[in-house]
Amino acid sequence: MKKVVVVGGGIAGLAAAYALQESKDIEYILVEKESRLGGKIITQYEDGFLIEGGPDCFLAEKQSVIKLAEKIGLGDSLIGTNDQFKGTYIYSGNKLHSLPEGLILMVPTKIIPFALSPLISWPGKLRMSLDFILPKKKNQDDETLHSFVMRRLGREALDKIAEPLIGGIHGGNPETMSLKASFPRFLEMEKNHGSLIRAMLAARKKVRKKAPNARGGKPRTYFMSFKKGMGELTDALEKKLRGRIIKGKEVTGLNFLGTGFQVQIGEDESIFADGVILAVPAPEAAALLNRTAPKAAETLRLTPMASSATFTLAYKKKQMPGMINSFGFLVPHVEGRKINAVTFSSVKWDYRVPNEEYVLIRAFIGGAKNSHLAVVPDDQMCLWVKEELRSILGITEEPERYWIHRWIDARPQYTMGHLERLEEINKDLKKVPGLVLAGGSYRGIGVPDCINDGVRAAKKVLDYLQGN
Ligand SMILES: Cc1cc2nc3c(=O)[nH]c(=O)nc-3n(C[C@H](O)[C@H](O)[C@H](O)COP(=O)(O)OP(=O)(O)OC[C@H]3O[C@@H](n4cnc5c(N)ncnc54)[C@H](O)[C@@H]3O)c2cc1C
Repeated sequence: MKKVVVVGGGIAGLAAAYALQESKDIEYILVEKESRLGGKIITQYEDGFLIEGGPDCFLAEKQSVIKLAEKIGLGDSLIGTNDQFKGTYIYSGNKLHSLPEGLILMVPTKIIPFALSPLISWPGKLRMSLDFILPKKKNQDDETLHSFVMRRLGREALDKIAEPLIGGIHGGNPETMSLKASFPRFLEMEKNHGSLIRAMLAARKKVRKKAPNARGGKPRTYFMSFKKGMGELTDALEKKLRGRIIKGKEVTGLNFLGTGFQVQIGEDESIFADGVILAVPAPEAAALLNRTAPKAAETLRLTPMASSATFTLAYKKKQMPGMINSFGFLVPHVEGRKINAVTFSSVKWDYRVPNEEYVLIRAFIGGAKNSHLAVVPDDQMCLWVKEELRSILGITEEPERYWIHRWIDARPQYTMGHLERLEEINKDLKKVPGLVLAGGSYRGIGVPDCINDGVRAAKKVLDYLQGN
């Protein structure tokens, strides 16, 4: 029986292992250096509070999570957002402004709410509406998110909407982000419709025509999660894995033997593998490929990694100065604050607090433009977050408790040249058949992308081992 080692037990590695399992003539071993599986998906449960340290949801239109969840019997655990409180605010000029209704990603699709919104000035709105008549770009060359938004929608749309909303997804910096690698959809929209607004209107029409519900009649919202948080997905996947799982041991060495690999696990175990899936972030993959594929390793090291932290606070509802009845707010970088977003987790989702008396609030710190803020000591971070919540929301009370999760040098940045670098890496890895990279550092950072990438990697290794 052929043996595959999957290095890394994040969602990409778990999805890869689960996909390998479908092939009867393959044995696999999954190795994870931490004592738990899940990687950046980490859901903490404490006295009825459910705290998400990493992702708290996934984009429902990317089908892979829902399909996988249904396959492993988690269909009934899927939950949508509480859309009766739908709405996000943008902090601008010392005030919270409601994001105009109909604004999808960064594109306005409803004229009246957009026209009435005080978030963007009249000159800014006029500039955004030029998107209807501006000619489309003549070539399909890549550009930064910054240059694209400046070209189509103007400075105000960039600073107040695109940077916090779109850049925030990657914890990224629009000035360096490759649009083709991060949001290829925008380039497609311009190419096919000549205007982002026209493209979004057409997309909305299409969505309306489709049945709005998931299979089984469950209402689907734009973002979705699980009753027990995103960790419910990784926990369930772990239970479904029948292969050997090694936790708490790091893969420290990888030698290519011409056919097959010698994989060093911790200090005392060395395994022969016919195939290897490296489902680890780019810097960790680079470290393991130093000897086997030095050129690929060198290129992998060019992927910049940003740092960020999530800071979750539990308050008694009566401590809140006003009702928080929205999903939260975003803070544009130009505002010069310490936090870049806040989610009202217990409003957005059910099952996040022990009872109605409590609210759970999650703040984000750091990202590519502010990575240094994510590394300060806990008490400093706590002071900052409380001060921001006091000055923006008027919360003067102490939280009942709080939780910090840090992601230091852990958020891959798809900067200009990312796709070309990926091509170079893959070219170099052709010399190492049987080895495949997977995960959020490469073809999409979202949980659905990572699942797709894990499955793709498994298929590639199986094709190689089965001689297809
Ligand atoms: C704060 C935050 C919020 C996010 N929010 C969202 C969101 O709301 N929705 C969304 O879709 N995405 C979100 N993301 C992105 C998403 O969570 C990640 O892109 C995804 O989980 C990455 O999965 P992965 O398997 O590629 O990598 P990881 O989760 O990083 O897993 C890699 C694993 O490899 C292990 N490893 C590394 N080196 C070795 C080694 N040598 N030997 C053994 N094991 C090793 C690591 O310990 C880790 O467990 C967020 C990310 C962060 C940090």
